[in-house]
Amino acid sequence: MKKVALVTGSSRGLGRAQAIRLAKLGYDVAVNFVQDSSAPKAQEVLDIMKKEYGADGIAIQADVADYAQCEKLVHAVIEKFGHIDVLVNNAGVNVDRLFVETPLDDIRREIDVDFLAHIYMNKLVVPYMQKQKSGCIVNISSICGWKPTPWQVVYCGVKAAVMGMTRAMAAELGADGIRVNSIAPGFHITDMTMHDPEEVREEQKQLTPLGRFGTPEDVADGLECIVNTEFMTGQIISPNGGLWMH
Ligand code: NAP
Repeated sequence: MKKVALVTGSSRGLGRAQAIRLAKLGYDVAVNFVQDSSAPKAQEVLDIMKKEYGADGIAIQADVADYAQCEKLVHAVIEKFGHIDVLVNNAGVNVDRLFVETPLDDIRREIDVDFLAHIYMNKLVVPYMQKQKSGCIVNISSICGWKPTPWQVVYCGVKAAVMGMTRAMAAELGADGIRVNSIAPGFHITDMTMHDPEEVREEQKQLTPLGRFGTPEDVADGLECIVNTEFMTGQIISPNGGLWMH
């Protein structure tokens, strides 16, 4: 039976690269997105996975900040493939703004998408993994979960929460054969970081000992490492070019 992966927020950026990497590794992959305008991008990911790696796929529009939509998303994947071996909780948003000036709606959205969505998806998928006595969950956090960053107070808080949740889940679910790890990316060029002013991006590059921005493929390398390292659980791995040291 072919292995199956579900990657949230995989129409663009880091999620897209991770979905394509899983297809390369032999998985059938469910791609998720939220905006109507991203449907063609999700279809393009399916086309690439099929053409280059013969992977079967499905693209599902769902807002992972909404529990009812998460239920529909998970059911659609189970209906098509019958099981889920790898879940990557990747979908995320980032509001760059001074803390006191950030509207409550933006704060709630960050908590909902960057943290509660992980909880929802994990709560829904874990029972299937418990039944099959195996599974690999990857929660995407951020270097911001460790590194205090002005203008990102809420983002830093929720990404640290993802790290804590990851370790606790790993402790609880190991006995069921389920591994839970996190990737904490550094500064990678995607739509999310392209919104940053040029001087901010340049500063991040200067602070990175390896002297370049991360790519989405750098994060896919981290995912491949986790997926292939059967004895690894409760870990936070961080492809960040050394940015963490500053
Ligand atoms: P991105 O380029 O902005 O892409 C975000 C993806 O998430 C898109 O596929 C988007 O779908 C999806 N998404 C957003 N809200 C969603 C929701 N409510 N429900 C379902 N899907 C949703 O972001 P990225 O840079 O690839 O970031 C991916 C993850 O890595 C995030 O968790 C982010 O916090 C984390 N991260 C990124 C960096 C970096 O340097 N880029 C660094 C550290 C951590 P649509 O296309 O439909 O909008």
